[in-house]
Amino acid sequence: MVCPYCKHQENIRKHGTYIRASDGKVCQRYRCKSCSKTFSETHFGIDYRLRKRYLNQNIFRSLCSGVSQRRLALILGVRRPVIARRLLRFGICAQHNLEEYRKNREKVSKLDFDELETFEHSKCKPITAAIAVEDKTRKVLAIAVGRIPAKGSLVHLARKKYGKRPCERHKCLTTLFEELKACVTDFGIVKTDQSRAYPPYIRVYLPKWEHQATPGRRGCVVGQGELKEGAWDPLFSLNHTYAMFRDGLKRLARRTWCTTKKIENLKMALYMYAWFHNLYLDSKAKRNLRLAWIP
Ligand SMILES: [Zn+2]
Repeated sequence: MVCPYCKHQENIRKHGTYIRASDGKVCQRYRCKSCSKTFSETHFGIDYRLRKRYLNQNIFRSLCSGVSQRRLALILGVRRPVIARRLLRFGICAQHNLEEYRKNREKVSKLDFDELETFEHSKCKPITAAIAVEDKTRKVLAIAVGRIPAKGSLVHLARKKYGKRPCERHKCLTTLFEELKACVTDFGIVKTDQSRAYPPYIRVYLPKWEHQATPGRRGCVVGQGELKEGAWDPLFSLNHTYAMFRDGLKRLARRTWCTTKKIENLKMALYMYAWFHNLYLDSKAKRNLRLAWIP
């Protein structure tokens, strides 16, 4: 056990119990001898200081199944902030879990990565989300999000309406590769599309890896543009995962009213979905799909 205040691991003693008012659970209290503060075992759970904790898993599964926040609030008979607050909380938990997952899983020698494009508030303010998945198993390994300037026909309108928009693509890709360091082998194969932005990063972060660049293809209608027309797609693991992100997270669906308003919240939603996705692909975890903090 780690003290949440001073982060010391030793000198933590039991300090009585109390009965939690909202559900009657008996909770153990602890006292840290280093900083003399007390805390309870509930401090580390995803339901710390929540009263409607029985809604948590339902909200988690629904938010990752294409239900909008407003509609979920209506279905469960709660106010909208109840859902919005859970989204942030679950995102933080999922981000932590994903980090632990990278550290503790066996090393990866085959991975695919690409960027998924979405926007905050208006199409004039695009966002890139770089996502790396393990080839074949389709498990999500790392995610990074950043603002990018508008492209194509929207450039002039975007400049006029919202001014100059910073490009955080470099920061975003750097973060992604830094995070991947924890879970990759020395040699392997990395598959991407033919973007010229990627080879420099691969040379720096995966120097001994083989890079396979696949030409882009037209999307077919069913996969929201992510699943490709024609036969065998070498980036299938990645494109299928992207299609699942677009289907699972309401705000990523194409032609939806539900849009991202704050990039931080999009980040949390992506982490939450990524963790849901990894649990869903694990046949054991899928049977009782729950979000819990990995200690
Ligand atoms: Zn302490």
